[in-house]
Amino acid sequence: MSDNALDVVIVGGGLGGLAAAISCAIAGHRICVLEASRELAEIGAGLQITPNAARLLEAWGLGPDIEAMGAEPTKLTVHRYRDGRILAQESDFDKNMRRKYGAPFVDMHRADLQQLLYKKARSLGIKVRLGSRVSQIERNTFRPQVLLESGERVSAHLVVGADGLWSRCRESMLGRADKPMPTGDLAYRIILEIGQIGDPELREWIANPEVHFWIGPRAHAVGYSMRGGTMYNIVLLCPDNLPSNISRSKGSVDEMMELFSGWDPILTRFLKHVDSVEKWKLMHREEVESWTNPQKNFVLIGDSCHAMLPYLAQGANSSLEDGAVLGRLLSHVQSRAQLPWAITLYESLRKSRSESIVRETFRQRHDFHLEDGELQQQRDDLFLSQLGKPVDCAFPSRWTCPKVQPWLYGYDSNIVADEAVHAHPYRDEQEELVMKEFRPEEQVPSLLQVSAN
Ligand SMILES: Cc1cc2nc3c(=O)[nH]c(=O)nc-3n(C[C@H](O)[C@H](O)[C@H](O)COP(=O)(O)OP(=O)(O)OC[C@H]3O[C@@H](n4cnc5c(N)ncnc54)[C@H](O)[C@@H]3O)c2cc1C
Repeated sequence: MSDNALDVVIVGGGLGGLAAAISCAIAGHRICVLEASRELAEIGAGLQITPNAARLLEAWGLGPDIEAMGAEPTKLTVHRYRDGRILAQESDFDKNMRRKYGAPFVDMHRADLQQLLYKKARSLGIKVRLGSRVSQIERNTFRPQVLLESGERVSAHLVVGADGLWSRCRESMLGRADKPMPTGDLAYRIILEIGQIGDPELREWIANPEVHFWIGPRAHAVGYSMRGGTMYNIVLLCPDNLPSNISRSKGSVDEMMELFSGWDPILTRFLKHVDSVEKWKLMHREEVESWTNPQKNFVLIGDSCHAMLPYLAQGANSSLEDGAVLGRLLSHVQSRAQLPWAITLYESLRKSRSESIVRETFRQRHDFHLEDGELQQQRDDLFLSQLGKPVDCAFPSRWTCPKVQPWLYGYDSNIVADEAVHAHPYRDEQEELVMKEFRPEEQVPSLLQVSAN
């Protein structure tokens, strides 16, 4: 739709923003990404990319790259925290994922994925302006305007707020200050290189990719390999003891060791190799009434509207889904007047699913973090009743639950978007309605007049 191509400004070049940029560019629109950071640095640690997002990366031609840079776990195991006893295990996990969902489950470094998406975006001609921090969106205009901290203004037909947990776009959408809320938990994020480990058993764990969970009272740990089995990612999840005004800080290795002392020796042997550690307060967001403005030319995606606990590894995966659905819907837009229709569909498809995922992450915390006692015993009995056979009931680990897993991993953003367009096609009377509300565009440089950094 070259003549009717939309100017789309995406605020934030994280995983959701870059996914939206790629998907909207493939749909034929002109995209500019405004990213606050001066460089896409090695922020974060490991990410589990589940089939619902891996299928999108494959569709964008990145399948071979994620396989080369990541690691595909062959087993997923849940252990009791103290003795490492296996409570649940799925073997051939890699094969099962591909067979059931037609896409892999890949563990990779967040920075590797962000670089891949960035290169893909650049190859599609997308402008990514680094060092461009947005302060506000002026939303009550026919053509929304993005205000940068530098004082510059950029306008677009559509603004996508993909600026993560501490979103300024969300505040602009709501018209008030709105900070993320603590979940009560924090994460220690640890990365170990195989080269720094002499212990042959630990080296074998790293070289043979699997996912391991250890679950205990108010806490759990996750370990998995990345970068072709040369790197190990461990996340320790436990009660938040950071001051309320601190969201991320250097942690104490001694404090970490103390918290997990007495846990499965294989885990604590890994932890003995840690010489520095970071603590991340895990934050979430209240559900907001709407992810869009009334004009349907400003929309939120990713952590800005559905930050969640990382207990199902869906934060980034669902942000990629958001971006993909948005772009796919925009591929059906034949004229600028159809934008509100597409944005309305976007919100109706994405909001309920993402908010359900958020709620599910809190349920997963409940089931993983039970105190030792009667409920924990019942949970473990249920786990053990299914060991060594295909799980056939609602399961305390949603990672292999036959109800939750297909709902999470079976989601195909492109099909979902196409089906919605088919079920709710654009109608001309909507076009007339929108055109009546048309107001002349403000004299603000469009993104195409602003040069890329
Ligand atoms: C411990 C932990 C483990 C996790 N593990 C997983 C996992 O295994 N799988 C998974 O799917 N998810 C995981 N997540 C969640 C995941 O990291 C996030 O949900 C995901 O990164 C959100 O993507 P996003 O694009 O919305 O935000 P982000 O990735 O945070 O990107 C936001 C971008 O916007 C930029 N920005 C911010 N403000 C501005 C501004 N004013 N102007 C311009 N740019 C701005 C930022 O610099 C950043 O680049 C984990 C999170 C944690 C804390």
